[in-house]
Amino acid sequence: MSFEIKYKDARGRSGILKTPHGKVQTPALMPVIHPGKQTLDVSRYGVDMVITNAYLMYKYQDLREIALEKGVHELINFNGPIMTDSGSFQLSLYGDIDVSNREIIEFQEQIGTDIGTSLDIPTPPFVTRQRAEREMEITIERAREALEVRDNLMLNSVVQGSTYPSLRAKCAEALGEMDFQVHPIGAVVPLMESYQYSTLLDVVMASVEHLPDSRPRHIMGAGHPMIFSFAVALGCDLFDSAAYILYAQDDRLLMPEGTYKLENLVEMPCSCPICNNYHPEDLRQMKKDERTKLLAQHNLHISFAEIRQIKQAMADGNLWEMVERRARNHPYLLDAVRKIKKYTPQLEVYDPPYKKSAFFYSGPESLNRPEVYRHLERLERLPHKERLLILPPTLKPYHKYIETDLEIFFSNTFNPDLRKTDDLQIAFADIPFVFIPLEIDDVYPLAQNESPQTIDQDSRKFLNEHLKAIIDTYREVIISEKVLDVFDLRPRTLGVPHGNLNQTPPKDQILSDQEKVEYMADYQFGSGSGKALFEGDTNITKSRKTGKIRHIYDKDDLIATLRARDGVLVLGMEGARRLHSHLPYPVNRVVVNEDAEPFAREGKSIFAKFIIDCDMNIRASEEVLVVNQDDELLAFGKSILNAEEFTSFNTGQAVKTRKGGF
Ligand SMILES: [Zn+2]
Repeated sequence: MSFEIKYKDARGRSGILKTPHGKVQTPALMPVIHPGKQTLDVSRYGVDMVITNAYLMYKYQDLREIALEKGVHELINFNGPIMTDSGSFQLSLYGDIDVSNREIIEFQEQIGTDIGTSLDIPTPPFVTRQRAEREMEITIERAREALEVRDNLMLNSVVQGSTYPSLRAKCAEALGEMDFQVHPIGAVVPLMESYQYSTLLDVVMASVEHLPDSRPRHIMGAGHPMIFSFAVALGCDLFDSAAYILYAQDDRLLMPEGTYKLENLVEMPCSCPICNNYHPEDLRQMKKDERTKLLAQHNLHISFAEIRQIKQAMADGNLWEMVERRARNHPYLLDAVRKIKKYTPQLEVYDPPYKKSAFFYSGPESLNRPEVYRHLERLERLPHKERLLILPPTLKPYHKYIETDLEIFFSNTFNPDLRKTDDLQIAFADIPFVFIPLEIDDVYPLAQNESPQTIDQDSRKFLNEHLKAIIDTYREVIISEKVLDVFDLRPRTLGVPHGNLNQTPPKDQILSDQEKVEYMADYQFGSGSGKALFEGDTNITKSRKTGKIRHIYDKDDLIATLRARDGVLVLGMEGARRLHSHLPYPVNRVVVNEDAEPFAREGKSIFAKFIIDCDMNIRASEEVLVVNQDDELLAFGKSILNAEEFTSFNTGQAVKTRKGGF
């Protein structure tokens, strides 16, 4: 079995899971098929994999005979990958079932299922810790037994532990060490049915954080499109939907924004073929069976449309925006999205620093996003000056629009010392990134973000708190009056000087190209990297069209190219050499084994299985150095995965090499 990641966003992944009956593109929704009663053909809706119940096939003799003779694929008439559940759902309903763990594993293997499940115990939410722990131990034991029984069957192993994050973590850890292929997160349906999304958040995070990144995670029983994007952003890959049929039987329509009752509809809610072709009254007049089938079709259409939108959002890098939009659909979901804040540091490790889409501020929740947290952390990497001038937000990139503000400032400055710029840090105050030094205002997402001009109380408070901490590290601070106005800041020791002396210094005196690229390098690679990369006689070339910095050379040797769209420094050979000798091992390095060494030197991409060590601070989409065990530089390139994933995955590309040949 193999699972590969294609796109990453937030903590989510869009990837490919290989099974004996074909590939599954994740995130994937698996419609639940009833092995005896299914009348609706689900294969038309973009279904890659379905889920059905092995216990029901085992229990009813007629089904069992067909399944054993012809296989599960023929029984349910589906040729793609099939996942089977073991009967633990029935166990949770009736308390007891007449099959052993060993028997149900053997049965699943015999009927040719692609991914089978051991007989876990679905412990409900909010039981005593004692019970949750006891049942979790049994679940782990049965998982272990399943491994001994199975032959070639791919296996699910379900994370239990009720609503105790520490038990979920313990269970995930134990199962993660064994050779399973997929990890469902079990017994969360009661939480979803009662809209307890904040508790769901804790349960999912505790599980996901302790499961291997290289295996898909299935949030069991999650079939309402309202929470798909939320769950994907937290790292879930698979969903199953019985909801499409259960809701239809109850005359209810699923929508990403919630649920509609047919009895209340005066218009159909979407543009699927069912909603296009029928009026609510037509459906109400129909026979129950016929109506159920049509409503189920709507439910499938809308659920798969949501999955497609999530995949597109991940490719574009705007999954967070989608999660925040969906959160507006239920106050409890909004609550859970707000509570993501406590997990921001963990999420930041997985969220790629560079994305195609701009960052859109959609409300105070956006302040909790990894991008904001990361920026405030990475400010520490920059050189520190003695004095600070804070300017108000403008259009972006800020440096293009500062003439007027600078003129006002410098012409009103009575103290000639203040007009000296060599020890003066100029920065902008803005929402949501708080403090944007002039030198790095081109770097993603500092130029690639939008927020409303009307500022809400939460972000005002956020800016106040963080700006105060930053200001305290400067000897002298001048804040533009406009900043005080816009953000309602209370100047403490911070006077705004008045007077009318002199002229504005020329712009290149305020910001030299050399200083700019040095700051950018420090921000991207760590303190001191700028001086190391661009020491000596550098030659900076600019685009004739845009005037932007393009290449930085040492004579004819390319040190780096500044990528116009996101302000990332893409290394050249000379740059990689310089960075390698500046940064101590293992910083910014991916270490490959002997087998991969010749390929790396040839500039071929690095696959995860060849990586034996790396800097654990590497994020996906960053510029990294590829070295051998002796720390000899082999190549450099762009990380596709983060460090945790480098060490967890055994399949797929990990670094897209730009150049080898050292
Ligand atoms: Zn519809």
